[in-house]
Amino acid sequence: MTPLFELKNIQMDFTLPHRRGLGPALSLRALRGVDLQVGPGEVLGLVGESGCGKSTLARVAVGLLDPSAGQRLWQGQPFPRDQRRGPALAQMVFQDAGAALNPRLTVGDQIGEGALARGLVARAGRDALVAEWMLRVGLDPALAAHYPHMLSGGQRTRVVIARALAVQPRFLVCDEGTAALDLSVQAQVLNLLADLRAELGLSYLFISHDLATVRHVSGRVAVMYLGRIVEQAATAELFANPRHPYTQALLAASPGMDGSAPAVTLHGDPPSPLDPPAGCAFHPRCAHAFERCPRARPELAEAAPGHLSACHLGRA
Ligand code: SF4
Repeated sequence: MTPLFELKNIQMDFTLPHRRGLGPALSLRALRGVDLQVGPGEVLGLVGESGCGKSTLARVAVGLLDPSAGQRLWQGQPFPRDQRRGPALAQMVFQDAGAALNPRLTVGDQIGEGALARGLVARAGRDALVAEWMLRVGLDPALAAHYPHMLSGGQRTRVVIARALAVQPRFLVCDEGTAALDLSVQAQVLNLLADLRAELGLSYLFISHDLATVRHVSGRVAVMYLGRIVEQAATAELFANPRHPYTQALLAASPGMDGSAPAVTLHGDPPSPLDPPAGCAFHPRCAHAFERCPRARPELAEAAPGHLSACHLGRA
């Protein structure tokens, strides 16, 4: 079946500004050949340490960044170049709802402006549309006249979700969308996202450093390390049988489902994307590294049916 959304061999390079006396400008490759597919109604989780490229990938996925190379496909076709009118295909729920909202605009203006600009609603129908989306995300429509600073963190996150959904996307990228909330509010927002997915047939790319949350919400999980996907499988399979030593270390170093302390810590810091290690980028931190690891980069390949891993272990 054709995926709803697809990234093919995405590369994202940034040139760091030249600083006098510090040599030539540096090029940073944040994403290195990323392939991802999200099916209709599917939730794909994306995990990895801070700085691995998750947020860059989120911005590429919704079109806020143009990739340096590779393709972004919608139902097998390149994304339309001009997406300013009509329903948006993809939208983002940002990590920091406070920063994502304009402090000078009321909640109602922020939820309604996108739909108005895209011609999805006439000016006369804007307030009714705003009230409808506020109710759907569990907000009192009376808050439409409020400014973001007058709301709680949970309410601001609901406004960001309503603003995203008011332009009728079918694909939502949630970049640590619930990370700043306390646990009970986080659970409410996750339940809201699950209800909206069921009701509207949405697909999600759910990005988080919190493995327990990703396990709870995702049907499949991709693991990212230094700009590459190193493992991908159905959620139950990945958590029961992680193949890649990085995934194994990440799982061992994460708190238990009951909030208990992790069994081990993940040794060392991720290497700089300005100077990535040769071969397998994980080799300086890998307890299983052997002589082939620094010399050749392992391709992402099927280690078991539907289970991809990029590791030399067990390969001829
Ligand atoms: Fe470790 Fe080598 Fe596998 Fe990389 S390829 S994860 S260094 S065993």
